[in-house]
Amino acid sequence: MKNKIFLTGIIFFVLGFSQKKEKIPGAILMDKVLKSEQEWQTCLTPDEYQVLRNKGTERAFTGEYYKHSEKGIYTCAGCENELFSSSTKYDSGSGWPAFFDALDKSKVKTKRDLSYGMIRTEITCAKCDSHLGHVFEDGPKPTGLRYCVNSLALDFKKTN
Ligand code: FE
Repeated sequence: MKNKIFLTGIIFFVLGFSQKKEKIPGAILMDKVLKSEQEWQTCLTPDEYQVLRNKGTERAFTGEYYKHSEKGIYTCAGCENELFSSSTKYDSGSGWPAFFDALDKSKVKTKRDLSYGMIRTEITCAKCDSHLGHVFEDGPKPTGLRYCVNSLALDFKKTN
C-alpha cells in the first residue's frame, strides 16, 4: 500500500515537471518563451530591452504606434504573441498606444505595480513575461479599460 502511494507520488511529480504548458483556466494552452538575459539582449534593440525586460517606459508621444491607424494585429516585440487588434485601438490622448481590450484575456497577464509611488496594474505578455505597459480603468465602453502599451513592446502585422 505504501509503495502504491509512493509510486503515485512519483508519477505526479514526473508529470508535473514534464508539463511545459501553462494552465490558465478556460484558456488555450500556451508554450512559454524562456530566454536568458543575454539572449534577450542579443535579440532585442537596447530600447526594446529597456522596456520589455527592465520595465522601462518610452517617452510619451514618441512611439511608432501612437498615431498608427492601419488595420491589423499588434504582437509582442519579444515573442510575436498576438496581443491586441487594431479594432480596439483608440486615441487616449496619453501619448502611448491605447486599446480598450486585449485580443484574448489569456495573452496578457496583469499584476499590481506599486513602483514610483503609484498604484497601477502592470501588463505583461503571458508567453514571454515581457513588460508591455499598464492597464487603467478609465477606458471607453464596452470594457472601461485602457491598455496603455509602449510602442517599443509591440510589432505590427497588417491585415486587409
Ligand atoms: Fe511576448
